[in-house]
Amino acid sequence: MMASLIEHGIRSPAVLHAMAGVPREEFVLEGDRDRAYADRALPIDAEGQTISQPLMVALVVEALELHQGDRALDVGTGSGYQAAVMAACGAHVVSIERVGSLAASAAERLRRLDYDVEVVEGDGSLGVPERAPFDAIAVGAAAPRLPLELARQLVEGGRLVVPITDSPIGEELTRLRLVNGRWETESLGPCRFVPLIGADGYQEAGSS
Ligand code: SAH
Repeated sequence: MMASLIEHGIRSPAVLHAMAGVPREEFVLEGDRDRAYADRALPIDAEGQTISQPLMVALVVEALELHQGDRALDVGTGSGYQAAVMAACGAHVVSIERVGSLAASAAERLRRLDYDVEVVEGDGSLGVPERAPFDAIAVGAAAPRLPLELARQLVEGGRLVVPITDSPIGEELTRLRLVNGRWETESLGPCRFVPLIGADGYQEAGSS
């Protein structure tokens, strides 16, 4: 897995160190442990949620430019793997997940493995205002458009990395940075994520 990350251009020593250190087999389903280090997404529940592909996690976390002691928000905890990688880069992490059972199991796992991550259950499309502001925010699910409430929870110099569905190239990983009070956005390339479901995301299937 590490060779593949380097081959695909991951350069940050902190991110490579974190990816090498976080035990991915602890975050996948029991039957998938032998595949934990393959560069692919794997299921984490019966409803189709997945733990992201290692390369995508590394790209997102590298793009966050985390520094020791940064306050970071992870939207879409899932298994908790990406939150653990962010914590292993030295960040104090708040991670929010809408599916209660996933939030509970990720919180238990992260506590057992001793990562500095606070897991919150709820709709992260509006961020976590009571914990804001953040130096860095990662969204692990695809938003229809730039989630403005999240952007408003950044400090000056802060970074928001979010997959946006409605872009000219299709789903696009986007980085927004707050510079001198203005948002600068930049494309990090095409990507594929499950939908962000919530007030500033998509509606849940079947709801009106
Ligand atoms: N990064 C995770 C995988 C994320 S999969 C990992 O490393 O395992 C995307 C997750 O986002 C799913 O668990 C899904 O339930 C969650 N999600 C979708 N919309 C959300 C929202 N509005 N707020 C919080 N979590 C959300």
